[in-house]
Amino acid sequence: MAGSSRSLSRSIFAAVLSFTLIAVLATAIALVTVSYLAEEKRSEDALVAQARACAEVLEGRTAEERATLINDQFPGPERFTLVDPAGAVVCDTEATSHALGNHGSRPEMQQAESQGEGVLVRHSDTLGQDTLYVAERLQDGSFIRVSEERLSLFAFLGSMAAPMGIVMACAVLLVIVLSRFLTARIMKPLQGLDANDPLAGDVYEEMQPILRRIDQQQRQLKRQNEELKQAEGLRREFSANVSHEMKTPLQVISGSAEMIASGLVAPEDVRDFAGRIYLESQRLRALINDVLTLSRLDESSFDAAERAPVNLLEVVRRTCERLEPLARERQVSLAFDGTPVRTAGSEPLIEQAVSNLVENAIRYTGDGGAVRVQVQAETQAEAQAAATVANAATSEAIATDGSKANSGKANSGKAPAGPWAIVRVRDTGIGIPAEDRSKIFERFYRTEKSRSKETGGTGLGLAIVKHAASYHGGDVTVESALGEGSTFTLRLPLAES
Ligand code: ADP
Repeated sequence: MAGSSRSLSRSIFAAVLSFTLIAVLATAIALVTVSYLAEEKRSEDALVAQARACAEVLEGRTAEERATLINDQFPGPERFTLVDPAGAVVCDTEATSHALGNHGSRPEMQQAESQGEGVLVRHSDTLGQDTLYVAERLQDGSFIRVSEERLSLFAFLGSMAAPMGIVMACAVLLVIVLSRFLTARIMKPLQGLDANDPLAGDVYEEMQPILRRIDQQQRQLKRQNEELKQAEGLRREFSANVSHEMKTPLQVISGSAEMIASGLVAPEDVRDFAGRIYLESQRLRALINDVLTLSRLDESSFDAAERAPVNLLEVVRRTCERLEPLARERQVSLAFDGTPVRTAGSEPLIEQAVSNLVENAIRYTGDGGAVRVQVQAETQAEAQAAATVANAATSEAIATDGSKANSGKANSGKAPAGPWAIVRVRDTGIGIPAEDRSKIFERFYRTEKSRSKETGGTGLGLAIVKHAASYHGGDVTVESALGEGSTFTLRLPLAES
């Protein structure tokens, strides 16, 4: 199920904008609070200084003189209150002294009484707000108190509202512009991503692993696509070849049958025509059987149940026995020898591969020739030594006609390890031209001089051998010299006996 999709750019924009706004707001609040506290401290210091100055002026004066001096020299805006030693208010710049009660018990007075000076902030119920009081004790025990209304933080904020509003509006605008710019910068490498080449261009380091993976998968997809195209091409070619190969026998069959049916064949020739029909239908059957075997091998549909121990010497014995009449007909001597080595796999498939090799050896060997089949085991070391020799033979073995006797090879592509069960089929036949040796394992490939069709060849025999070998984890190789003969070596993994 696909997850819900969110816009990355909108999320980044919202995050940057909100975080920056919070930061700007917090900084503004902190700045205002600090300025408020600094202002409070400044006004407190100023009030204390004023109270001390006033006390100095009043020192040594009579009560009347003091009252006059206060009214003349300290007109406000602060409030001045002169209190006698008994706590009665002598004079107050904001209220008549009679209306005010005894001030002796006020905390700032008590503090001034004991310490000479009292400074504190008190909430005045009368005024309904905080007031800062500074009281100074005079030498005769009287007190001069100076007070001033305190601006609350909210009031202070209120007084700052207009300039703050302007600054904040500018800051918000700036933050929006900056957030857009930042979002665009962050998004640029993402928007510039090329899906076909994800690692190209300016790529975030953190995205490298996932982009590398996408790149890998794309390459893999491309490779698979090409392989599929190639396979499709081969399949088409194969189908076209199969149809073509079927046409000739079908034409012979239908032509001969038609002639017999329309009475165009003399009674003494009917037997001959029937023989031709039989031969071509046998050829058709062989072709269909080979095509079916190959398509089963292509699908790897020989199941595990078919993988059983196979005695190769026994398989070779049966094959030679079956092909003995053909060898006799072609005047080719057929012999086999070896040890009873075992492999594991599909016995019918292995028998068909061996049979294809032996039948080819007989068909491509002229009168008086010989075909010899050997069965043996090969250790891992021998397999490696043989591989080295085979590689050297590619450039060193010289055939009697002077051409190089190099080898062709067909296997699953894996490096063979051994130990191996080996079936080697040698013939003294026509040999295979060097340029054809690697191609003869392809479907329907025939060498020019083989006269394959005339001897009943389908052109699929070696393709089946190659696939059967690879299906069992083995391989098949050929060494040959023109006019001298050929040796096909089928190697299958050796099974414990
Ligand atoms: P075919 O049915 O034509 O024999 P194969 O796939 O078995 O098809 O063999 C492909 C071709 O390889 C043959 O047509 C023939 O030209 C060549 N070939 C195979 N085996 C031998 C051999 N023992 N000696 C010479 N040529 C061979």
